Amino acid sequence: MRELIALRCTSCKRKNYYTTKNKRLHPEKFSIKKYCPFERKHILHKEAKPK
Ligand SMILES: [Zn+2]
Repeated sequence: MRELIALRCTSCKRKNYYTTKNKRLHPEKFSIKKYCPFERKHILHKEAKPK
């Protein structure tokens, strides 16, 4: 039971990545440092709704 989530850049608010996670195993929202192609540097991305 994996659900689609988006990873949104906390700086420009763009949804740069889409991934899936198991919400039963990881019910909390997660955040991860990822490369933002719009700012061309690594920015903290947070989980968001994919739509
Ligand atoms: Zn960004």
